[in-house]
Amino acid sequence: MSSDTSPPSLNDILGLMVSSDPEGVALVKRAYEFAEIAHSNQVRKSGEPYFIHAVATACNLAELGLDAQTITAGLLHDTIEDADISRAEIELNFGETVRFLVDGVTKLGELKYHGDDRRAESLRKLFLAMAQDIRVLIIKLADRLHNIKTLQHVSSEKQHRIAVETLEIYAPLANRLGMGKLQAELEDGAFLYAEPEDAERTTKLFKQQGKRAEKSLEKVYKSLSSELAKQNINAEVSYRLKHLYSLYKKLKRKEWNIEKVYDVMALRVMASSIEDCYRILGIIHAHWKPLPGRIKDYIAVPKPNGYQSIHTTVFTGDGEIAEIQIRTKEMHDESEFGIAAHLAYKEASKPKSGGRLSKKLQWVQQLIDWQKNFSESREFIENLKLDFFQYRVFTFTPNGDVIELPEDATPIDFAYAVHSELGDRISGAKINGKLASLSTCLKNGDIVEIMTGKNHVPSYKWLDFTKTSQARKKIRSWLSKNRSARF
Ligand code: MN
Repeated sequence: MSSDTSPPSLNDILGLMVSSDPEGVALVKRAYEFAEIAHSNQVRKSGEPYFIHAVATACNLAELGLDAQTITAGLLHDTIEDADISRAEIELNFGETVRFLVDGVTKLGELKYHGDDRRAESLRKLFLAMAQDIRVLIIKLADRLHNIKTLQHVSSEKQHRIAVETLEIYAPLANRLGMGKLQAELEDGAFLYAEPEDAERTTKLFKQQGKRAEKSLEKVYKSLSSELAKQNINAEVSYRLKHLYSLYKKLKRKEWNIEKVYDVMALRVMASSIEDCYRILGIIHAHWKPLPGRIKDYIAVPKPNGYQSIHTTVFTGDGEIAEIQIRTKEMHDESEFGIAAHLAYKEASKPKSGGRLSKKLQWVQQLIDWQKNFSESREFIENLKLDFFQYRVFTFTPNGDVIELPEDATPIDFAYAVHSELGDRISGAKINGKLASLSTCLKNGDIVEIMTGKNHVPSYKWLDFTKTSQARKKIRSWLSKNRSARF
């Protein structure tokens, strides 16, 4: 992730490592020398030694705060596939865990598949490996980040393919891990190649609006800083810029009207305690009138990926509107580094059920169960994008449980996501307390109450507006089991 132009070195890795435990440092040093020899005759498309890619991947991992074994595996991640090193040799030199991590990242080179089949099989293998040890995925993401940053050297057909795959699969996986910084870097790197025209258009709007936003935020920044000092609240106020791809996604939802995007630039307040976060919110609202309906308390109700922060949007008093985000330092680190922030490596492989990490990784098991539904490669990849990685909305049961769904999902998708029996007996739905039709598209934050009736059964009509493959499969299976009930 370093923006330095000179090739990364062993010292860069060591300098970025969180722990200087001598055993770990020695392991990384040995892997560095091993990989250097293994890749010695190979060059990348850029003409640089191939080894640089291994070192850059390891640097990314060290910067994300990963442990020595993961960094070691990062250095070795292409030695099986590209340098003919055997799995046994890696295990002998670096132990079983490192061998497992490297093997997990290695594609299924032996399979004589192409296109979708090969991609699908590689992904399935990656998912199975990361269910055992999530660090496999993080290495894959660190590897992809360096590849994205060096895309200028490959053919334009390959550029586009890798960039699209990064946006559709890998960036959403980083999001699932709560690794916001990595996600942003993957997205912005890929965006330029995947959608060059939209990227240019977004950049232009970003520059225009960014300048304007900075002006209007400056006053708020100054008076908020001095007010916090007056009230003896220890907090740091700074500017945060929306990253390009996230601005693009929002622009698309707002018909490219930048006036409707209030957070191109936002103020970020870093407080020292949760209590202070709420005090600061009070101070802000006492000074600037908040826009109704735009106060989001992700501290009390975190996003499913663990994101915590309070967001509010206020009228600045000079006709402008500004977003302010309030969080603690811990919440900030969590949103930047996500799972990597507490990947104590002992817990990383086979996390104990019930542990904090295991709770955060429940979706990986869901992914494994889910993929069993698909034997066709194309169907698998298409549904993966739809069910797992599309822009998602967070909806709630009346008890406050979060149900995460793809955009435009309906109460029927909601019901099947809660329980298949609930789906099969649905008679109607209330959204935020009001009766709504079963084809209503759910929005972020909706509270959905499903009503059921003994004599209500799934209908073919439902298939016209149901979005998730989970719901569609269950509806079809009910209909085929109950042929007499067709009407
Ligand atoms: Mn690689």
